[in-house]
Amino acid sequence: MNKNLNSVKISGIRKFYNEVQKVDGAISLTLGQPDFKLPVSIEEGLINAIKENKTTYTSNLGIVELREEISNYLLNKDISYEADEICITVGGSEALFNIFTALLNKGEKVLIPTPAYPAYESIVTILGGTVVNYSLDDEFKIDVEDIKRKIKDMNIKYLVLSLPSNPTGAILSKEEKEQLVELIKENDILVITDEIYESLCYDKYYSVAQCRDIKDKVIYVGGFSKMFSMTGLRIGYYACSQALMNEIIKIHQYNVSCAPSICQWAVYNGLKYGLKDVSHMKEVFNNRKELVVNKLKDMGLDVVIPKGAFYVFPSIKKFNIPSEEFALRLLYEEKVACVPGTAFGIGGEGYLRISYCYSDEELIEALKRIEKFINKI
Ligand code: PMP
Repeated sequence: MNKNLNSVKISGIRKFYNEVQKVDGAISLTLGQPDFKLPVSIEEGLINAIKENKTTYTSNLGIVELREEISNYLLNKDISYEADEICITVGGSEALFNIFTALLNKGEKVLIPTPAYPAYESIVTILGGTVVNYSLDDEFKIDVEDIKRKIKDMNIKYLVLSLPSNPTGAILSKEEKEQLVELIKENDILVITDEIYESLCYDKYYSVAQCRDIKDKVIYVGGFSKMFSMTGLRIGYYACSQALMNEIIKIHQYNVSCAPSICQWAVYNGLKYGLKDVSHMKEVFNNRKELVVNKLKDMGLDVVIPKGAFYVFPSIKKFNIPSEEFALRLLYEEKVACVPGTAFGIGGEGYLRISYCYSDEELIEALKRIEKFINKI
């Protein structure tokens, strides 16, 4: 076996989700998966692609029609990539794996935020790279000074940005963007910016990928699992300069050849005709966010108001119970499942991730149970 796997654990999110199945009547707020039906545009795109026999391999990069649509979509966000600077992948997950596989040599260090989506640390570890965490402040904002120091002192070449954030819901502010762009210009680093939740920004959207001067130092990762409520159809992408693309594509080619053809056509149709569904879902999520945040505040919990994605990450530090124990007790005593913050790395200790991809009824009932639990402990 690959010895690196000894240091890799099964995702704590999945582990907890499986635990929920054992508890009768439990309400689960664990999954990062929109609860909306597939938009009609995606459904029609899929069905038509099957009927038209569009079921063969596509080019490695993916169908040009979709890459052109993505290029236009990004341009509306002030991000500029040509169609041949975009590669369609099997979810954002494959994009991340390809990128790190192409970049990393044994022992090379990667700066990763904590708490963060657990795949970054696991992928880097599997590939024999070294994870170096950077801190977030009490509002889950990036500590740019900490990053600067670590790049200099530890000879680090790669930086992961992950905003809007899973699990904190933080987004990039204008000031942070400007500071990061300066930092990227001044240092010999390559940035992987995972923006899979970009379509779920409740405030103005900023990205380092908007700065064209640093285009050759940025790899952008996007995807449609969350945007079009299609997690099982597995379409994501990465975008980067031609020089980087020429290398990363080798991994994608020998990994999967291409993303599923009919799903590529579905997303093409979605980008052309389904953006109003995306706006609708965002509006519903925003209302649910208000509901959950207000209720948690009423209970006396410390909550940073999320500005993106569909998660709230309240602090449970004042109860002096480790996150995992807190989450297990909440599940077994009051039948509500939330993911312990530690599933997102050491920076997640003292927090709980609540996903609000659930109906108002489920959320209201779950919040009642959480209130009962914290009044008891
Ligand atoms: N990045 C982040 C931050 C995520 O939360 C996820 C999935 N939860 C992904 C990437 C990968 O998503 P997918 O492979 O479905 O595109």
